[in-house]
Amino acid sequence: MNRGELLRRWTIEKSEELYGIKNWGAGYFSISENGEVMINPYKENNKAAISIMDIISGIRERGMDMPVLLRIENLLDAQISYLNNSFADAMKKLNYKGVYRGVYPIKVNQQQQVVEEVTKFGQRYHHGLEVGSKAELIAALAVMKDKEACLICNGYKDEEFIDLGLYAVKMGFKLFFVIEMPGEADIILERSRALGIEPNIGIRIKLAARAGGHWTESGGDRSIFGLSMSEVISLVDMLKENNMLNCVKLLHYHLGSQIPNIRDIRAAVIEAARVYAELVREGAPMGYLDLGGGLAVDYDGSNTNYTNSRNYTVEEYCTDIVEAVMATLDPFEIPHPVIITESGRTTVAYHSVLIFNVLDVARFEEYEIPATLDEDMPEQIKNLFDVWKSLTLKNIQECYNDALYYRDVIREMFKHGTISLRDRAFSEKIFWNIIHKIAKEKSKLKNPPPDLGEIESAIADIYYCNFSVFQSIPDSWAIDQLFPIMPLHRLLEEPKNNAVIADITCDCDGKIDHFIDLHDVRNTLPLHDVNNGDDYYLGVFLVGAYQETLGDLHNLFGDTNVVSVKISPDGSFDFVREIHGDSVADVLAYSEYEPSYMLVKFREKAEQAVREGLITASERKNIVQAYDEGMRGYTYYER
Ligand SMILES: *Cc1c(COP(=O)(O)O)cnc(C)c1O
Repeated sequence: MNRGELLRRWTIEKSEELYGIKNWGAGYFSISENGEVMINPYKENNKAAISIMDIISGIRERGMDMPVLLRIENLLDAQISYLNNSFADAMKKLNYKGVYRGVYPIKVNQQQQVVEEVTKFGQRYHHGLEVGSKAELIAALAVMKDKEACLICNGYKDEEFIDLGLYAVKMGFKLFFVIEMPGEADIILERSRALGIEPNIGIRIKLAARAGGHWTESGGDRSIFGLSMSEVISLVDMLKENNMLNCVKLLHYHLGSQIPNIRDIRAAVIEAARVYAELVREGAPMGYLDLGGGLAVDYDGSNTNYTNSRNYTVEEYCTDIVEAVMATLDPFEIPHPVIITESGRTTVAYHSVLIFNVLDVARFEEYEIPATLDEDMPEQIKNLFDVWKSLTLKNIQECYNDALYYRDVIREMFKHGTISLRDRAFSEKIFWNIIHKIAKEKSKLKNPPPDLGEIESAIADIYYCNFSVFQSIPDSWAIDQLFPIMPLHRLLEEPKNNAVIADITCDCDGKIDHFIDLHDVRNTLPLHDVNNGDDYYLGVFLVGAYQETLGDLHNLFGDTNVVSVKISPDGSFDFVREIHGDSVADVLAYSEYEPSYMLVKFREKAEQAVREGLITASERKNIVQAYDEGMRGYTYYER
């Protein structure tokens, strides 16, 4: 290697910077010396880091296909500890007299395995659960063991829900009914009298404070859940009349998820703490202040108040909350309440990584075009050719306009039959060469013309990948959420292709063409060359929250395989659980098909084909077998 090559050599530091892994990885992810993405569950003890590529080998050896949702148990454990320790530290530092009791909202990732792990790892902190429906309550009652932990019941509650909750109180669960709507109180009182069990009541309020971000509707005055201040007062009066005010122990609000700005969080805490103080003044015993969710994840690693980020750390979040509660309550000499937060996103986002392979690549390179044109070329094509030849940095905008103009003229001529398909195809090559040249020149400009804003994505390479956006990262499609995406290996090589990602659904929305960036949003992702037969793996990170349970069956692609690993401090790892994804028969059955009936029908058709002499009987056997195997197979691309 000569000096020039050495200077230009690609390094893992360059990959780290390019993909931002240190910014969004929270210390859990890094790049090894041989250019692979590593998981470090024990941030400080790097000996225990393991390569995701080693896990992929293990998955392959066990005969499972991509895509795979990889869950790393340790990261769930680590995030629960981090949140609880951060609150404990803040409380100690500020001399807070109460404690923190977090609850995990089941809706953020309802998979039994995840909820079980949360309660297992959370037990040492008495970390509880939050439920928003009867089904979630039923799940929580089976999974929860710790009677010190809180069980918060939000959502619409019918008689059955309330009876079940009251029985749980009798069994010793620390269960709270949060009243979300004025009418709910009556039925809680009625059932409580009927069963002779006293409920723990919480009140959900609508705050005036609002938050920026995607989910602003769930907080603020106009939110659909929670009581207005006048409704709170009527409820208090009603409970007083019924001698039940002594059951009111908790105040709750939920401002929305992924709140990027700490100022909004602080404003809401102060307002809620004031209401808390007033409820104490009214004579309610209180004791618990529940601040809902909202603690954001820094998906793009920019540490800003951008929607996919947050301008605070977990430590700052905890300190600000504890400080705001004390500052609001201390002047009234009100005892410090137990602080509850319902952090879902932060708890589970880190522990899942979606892994898939690249199936094919459509490179978008410049075409070979002769230096001069035949004399008999149509005039319009000659003009387009001249645009290409005359393009310089100075006239890129003008050439862009001209290229679009001539392309449209040539298309019109084709429609009228005055130009051949061969000539039209040739003109398109010239057109795309112009776009390539404009993109190249544009990159030299500090302030490129706004018209040319997304020209790079027009000529991006397309990497066709074995997964479904709709199934595995629905928020990427539904609300344009950004997730960090990067190759899992080859990070010692420079990724020279600017790519967009297309999924296997071949739906025009089944793509990813916005990527994280420290200062902006990128339109393309740099990726490596993939030669025929190469394995090339990409990972989508921080997908543990909200993605798994919102997925739909677009094009009948079903649940992916799920593999859970546990990493030991000595750097070895175990496969603790594997869950096979949906088969074709499974997803058909979800759509109310009857797979066994379909097989019968197909056999009949094959028999008919034998009768008609189209296939032989032994061909029929193979054909029916192929249909049957297809039915039992994975919905994704199998090797
Ligand atoms: C969704 C939800 C949460 C979870 O919010 P995160 O921002 O994910 O922590 C908490 N509480 C309630 C009432 C919710 O609806």
